[in-house]
Amino acid sequence: MADFDYDVLVIGAGPGGYVAAIRAAQLGLKTACAESRETLGGTCLNVGCIPSKALLHASELYEEAAGGALAKLGVKIDKMSLDLDTMQGQRKDAVKGLTGGIEFLLKKNKVDWLKGLANFTGPNTVEVAGKSVTAKNIVIATGSSVTPLPGVEVDNKKGVIVDSTGALELDKVPGHLVVIGGGVIGLELGSVWRRLGAKVTVVEFLDQILPGMDGEVRKEANKIFKKQGFEYRLGTKVTGAEAHKKGVTLTVEPAAGGASETIEADVVLVSIGRRPNTDGLGLEKIGLELNGRGQIETDHDFATKVPGVWAVGDVIPGPMLAHKAEDEGIAVAENIAGLTGIVNHDVIPSVVYTSPEIAGVGLTEEAAKERGPVKVGKFPMLANSRAKTNHEPDGFVKVIADAETDKVLGVWVIAKVAGTMIAQAAQAMEFGASSEDIAYTCHAHPTHSEAIKEAAMAVMGKPIHM
Ligand code: FAD
Ligand code: NAD
Repeated sequence: MADFDYDVLVIGAGPGGYVAAIRAAQLGLKTACAESRETLGGTCLNVGCIPSKALLHASELYEEAAGGALAKLGVKIDKMSLDLDTMQGQRKDAVKGLTGGIEFLLKKNKVDWLKGLANFTGPNTVEVAGKSVTAKNIVIATGSSVTPLPGVEVDNKKGVIVDSTGALELDKVPGHLVVIGGGVIGLELGSVWRRLGAKVTVVEFLDQILPGMDGEVRKEANKIFKKQGFEYRLGTKVTGAEAHKKGVTLTVEPAAGGASETIEADVVLVSIGRRPNTDGLGLEKIGLELNGRGQIETDHDFATKVPGVWAVGDVIPGPMLAHKAEDEGIAVAENIAGLTGIVNHDVIPSVVYTSPEIAGVGLTEEAAKERGPVKVGKFPMLANSRAKTNHEPDGFVKVIADAETDKVLGVWVIAKVAGTMIAQAAQAMEFGASSEDIAYTCHAHPTHSEAIKEAAMAVMGKPIHM
């Protein structure tokens, strides 16, 4: 490719970008990846999926020990205490190990890491840290950042009004943490600090938490979290925040309008969603326009309207999930190489890593019913032998199938290991399975996954253990 420095230049080294770069290189294309962060791996590895799971795992163990759950199993721990420094240290180690691993993988695959902020200066040309680089194909994988809330200014350094990055780095357990937004981040990071001793209040604009998930799942999750000690202010909006010496005074009012009141907090977490990163990319220089939600539109192949410019991950429409970005990264590289890269956006699992975990794939019951008649099978985790034996009674599995064809349209799980269980549902749906197919697949015993088999049996009204 004599005319260009690279066959492929990827902007952003998150799960979308680094995966696209590695796959392109594996396919024999000369590839570079521009990244402005000090370390590779994007939001997910640096300040997202990985550090949040490191704290979720450690805080869960802490709560099991401190709350007496381990003692009930005969594991008695005398004089236990929280060592937050060590807990935070293992979070940092996890990030360091995995981001370093991506650096190794880029090197191994001969992908050049161009360090610095990239912006378009013309077609096929990008400037990275003052240096002009040309590429036949440019993949935008710049990810997303937290959506700001007017009147509630985030300052992670002060650690009083924080976003998810700041909430991961608190150096002491807040007395009262107010989470604005009852979505995934609010519930995951709210869980971390609640387990470590904080009182947690979730202020949510809508009348229920976890928008986008199945209605019954949202209701059950709400009940479970309430039982765990979460407090909710649903149907409520925050209209202002005043930081002072001892914390923050939040002003809230009913979402529908009405009298305002105040809530005192030690720390406030703003987690009301994320928005695509496109500022400063110079998209106007190549005539690439954004849609009404600030996203870059692509076709089925992840090509934008501008020839040679492609986009994947959080910066394009669809759920903002690492595995969605990764699959798009593989597909875009394959399409650039002239192969057929496809992502089935109808079968993308999502998981909330609370305890129990909440997972779903495909349609909610509400959305499925809008398309036509459905049959629904449910099975409670309480009736699953493994969950019962492990003292994990909360939750259920729900299988939604087309009433006529029996094709599985959606699966929802609340269970201790729902994130692991949902993989089989996604695979079954990818293969076009019917509920009968799942019901007649042999599942190992005793496993939580047997609840998926039983829920599939319940679609026909015949579970065994209920
Ligand atoms: P990103 O990971 O955001 O990466 C984009 C990269 O591009 C960044 O490193 C950025 O520095 C770089 N960049 C941006 N602009 C430029 C530029 N002009 N020049 C050079 N570099 C640039 N998803 C899950 O699936 N599971 C989870 O458990 C999960 N947990 C999360 C927890 C938190 C707290 C957060 C915030 C997110 C979480 N997510 C999770 C979402 C997940 O992190 C994102 O969906 C995923 O990182 C998107 O990947 P991406 O490659 O599109 O973008
Ligand atoms: P979210 O979209 O999951 O939830 C935001 C919540 O804030 C919604 O319930 C919304 O109704 C509410 N909200 C919006 N404006 C509000 C306001 N003014 N006042 C009160 N509530 C308001 O967003 P998030 O939790 O910030 O997460 C961002 C993205 O990161 C998500 O799209 C998610 O996919 C991704 N993420 C994924 C995981 C995971 O896969 N486990 C974990 C963390 C983050």
